[in-house]
Amino acid sequence: MQEGTPGRPLPAFPLGSELCREWHLAEARRRRAALPLGTPGVEMPDAVPLHLACQGRIVKFKRMLNRELTHLSETSRSGNQVSEYISNTFLDKQHEVEIPSPASREKGKEEARPPMSQISGVKKLMHGASFSYSSIPRFGVQTDQEGPLAKELETVNRWGLDVFKVAEYSGHRPLTVVMYSIFQERDLLKTFHIPIDTFITFLMTLEDHYHLDVAYHNNIHAADVAQSTHVLLSMPALEAVFTDLEVLAAIFAAAIHDVDHPGVSNQFLINTNSELALMYNDSSVLENHHLAVGFKLLQEENCNIFQNLSKKEQQMLRKMAIDMVLATDMSKHMNLLADLKTMVETKKVTSLGVLLLDNYSDRIQVLQNIGLTVLDLSNSH
Ligand SMILES: [Zn+2]
Repeated sequence: MQEGTPGRPLPAFPLGSELCREWHLAEARRRRAALPLGTPGVEMPDAVPLHLACQGRIVKFKRMLNRELTHLSETSRSGNQVSEYISNTFLDKQHEVEIPSPASREKGKEEARPPMSQISGVKKLMHGASFSYSSIPRFGVQTDQEGPLAKELETVNRWGLDVFKVAEYSGHRPLTVVMYSIFQERDLLKTFHIPIDTFITFLMTLEDHYHLDVAYHNNIHAADVAQSTHVLLSMPALEAVFTDLEVLAAIFAAAIHDVDHPGVSNQFLINTNSELALMYNDSSVLENHHLAVGFKLLQEENCNIFQNLSKKEQQMLRKMAIDMVLATDMSKHMNLLADLKTMVETKKVTSLGVLLLDNYSDRIQVLQNIGLTVLDLSNSH
C-alpha cells in the first residue's frame, strides 16, 4: 500500500521506526516548504537544539511523568505502552523550537489590525466552495487517495497512526479526517446530534485557522494530539471513568488547542508588546487566544457542532475545554503534575484498577493531565 511521492522512491527502513518517522517529518517539511504560501520570506525553521536548561527540565519531567503513569495503571499493559510511546515518539527525538519571525514583519501585521474590537485571527472561510458535496465522502473530505487513507486510518484507535501520511492522503486535511474518524468510532455525532455537514464545515474552518507556515503548532500536530487523546482515553485504567460529554470536551479541546498559533512563544509575544499580549494581560496569552478563536469559530455559518446540546451541557463543555486548554500553558505543568501525584496517592482505585474520581476538580485534573501527556510535553516548549 505504501507509495512515495511520485518520482521519489521510499527509502528502505522499517515502517514505524525512528528513521522512518524522521524521514516523514523531513518529507512533510519539504512538501510544506514547496507550497505556494503567497507570502515571500515565510521560512520553515530548521530544528535547533533546545538549550541545556530546557532539556534538563524535559528529562526531569519525563521521569516524573513515567512514574505517574506507572502509578496510574500498574496492572495494565497501557501504562507501559503510554510511557514507551511518550519516550520513543516524543522525548528522544530532536526537540524543536520555533524561531520568531523577524520583528519588523510581526509589527507590520499587528498594526494593521483594529485594536481589540474583535478576536484577531478569525478569517473568512478558505475552503468555501469546496464544501458543496451532495453526500459526505467516506472520510469527510474529498480525496483521490481513499484507499491509502483507509489503510492509514485503520490504526486510528491505536498508537502509531502516521499523521503525516494521513495529511498526504487527505489533501492536507489531517485534522478534519482524524476528527471525523474519532467521532465515528465513538459515535459522538449520534450521541450529541451533531449534523454531519455542520461537523465537517466546522472542522475545515478550524483546520484553515491553523497556520501552514508554522513548523510545529499546525494542523498535523492538532490531529496528532486529538488522536493521542482519543487513544489515552481508551486506556483500561480510564475505562468508563469519563462521561460522553467529558470525552467530547477533551477531544474538542485537543482539536482547538493550538489554533491560530503564530509560531512564537508567550514570552516573545509579551516582550514585543504584541496585540495578543495586551489583550490577555500577559497571562497564558496563546492558550487564551486558541480558546477564543476555537469558540468563536463555532459561531461561523453552519459551524456550531454543539447546537443540539442542552444549555447546561454547553456550559459544562465550555468550562471543561477552557480548563483543559489553559492547562497546556507549559509554565504551569509542574504544578499540575505535582497535584496529580498527590491525587493519585491519596485517591482510591477500584478493584479493577480504575481510578475513582468523584468530583469535578479530580476529574478535570486527570483530563488536564491526559492533555499534557500527549501535548506539548512532547516538544517545543
Ligand atoms: Zn500543541
